[in-house]
Amino acid sequence: MDAELLLDARAVLGEGALWDASRRRLLWVDIEGREVHIFDPAGGDDVAIDVGQEVGTVVPRARGGLVLGLRRGIALLDPASRELTMLADPESHLPDNRFNDGKCDPAGRFWAGTISHRRQPDAALYRLDPDLSVRRVLEGVVNSNGLAWSLDARAMYYIDTGTHRIDAFGYDRDTGAIRNRRTVVDVPDAMGKPDGMTIDADGMLWVAHWGGGRVNRWDPGTGRLLSTVLVPASRTTSCAFGGPDLATLYITTARTGMTAEALAAEPQAGALFAVRPGVQGLPAFEFAG
Ligand code: CA
Repeated sequence: MDAELLLDARAVLGEGALWDASRRRLLWVDIEGREVHIFDPAGGDDVAIDVGQEVGTVVPRARGGLVLGLRRGIALLDPASRELTMLADPESHLPDNRFNDGKCDPAGRFWAGTISHRRQPDAALYRLDPDLSVRRVLEGVVNSNGLAWSLDARAMYYIDTGTHRIDAFGYDRDTGAIRNRRTVVDVPDAMGKPDGMTIDADGMLWVAHWGGGRVNRWDPGTGRLLSTVLVPASRTTSCAFGGPDLATLYITTARTGMTAEALAAEPQAGALFAVRPGVQGLPAFEFAG
């Protein structure tokens, strides 16, 4: 399968694709461009909101508005007024780190991790609960990325790109506790590094592979590769099912760090891509706070 160009956005570091099912729009971010994007696939409009600092992730809030992971912490954004409200900055002592990928769990908690630009295991995974308290739930992280929960809500899948693996934890929906980390896929280097991730209605994982120009569908039960969507931009960063039938896979890409020669070979780097792979996704969870 091949992904097709949807929006030639030229994002520096396109990331964080998430379908906002309540409002039928695709949320995504340009981390290094410091923008939250709201894309309407029906009309083709893409609205960019400059948030003034690197933004690693965006999720919808059930009561309206958005929750962001920023360079300097977790914040609420009112997209109409563009007002930012900072909630917490748990790594103010680590100025080289910033928030990266994040997602809400089945109980409406917002999980977001950080990335160490020194590539040291001093990053972490955090959880923002509906009462707006923040806790550190996993330490020793290098580059916190994809998150997904199993259909029965008993497992949480997690990618620390620094490990080149897809891992799983036992997950307790009532308390949000995670335990018993295990590896479900060891990703071969030739496929690129595992980055963003989503889950489909069959419980299979779709993973964007940075440097691999692809999104792979993996079976977390067997570790087997099931299928591949090729993307004409090697820095493939995240993916999300969306559209009215949740059957379109939206894919973000990046052009950061590429030479002029590499960009000439991949002129669509930084674009949004889409493909209809023949399976459906699940609606993303919203922040319940
Ligand atoms: Ca990422």
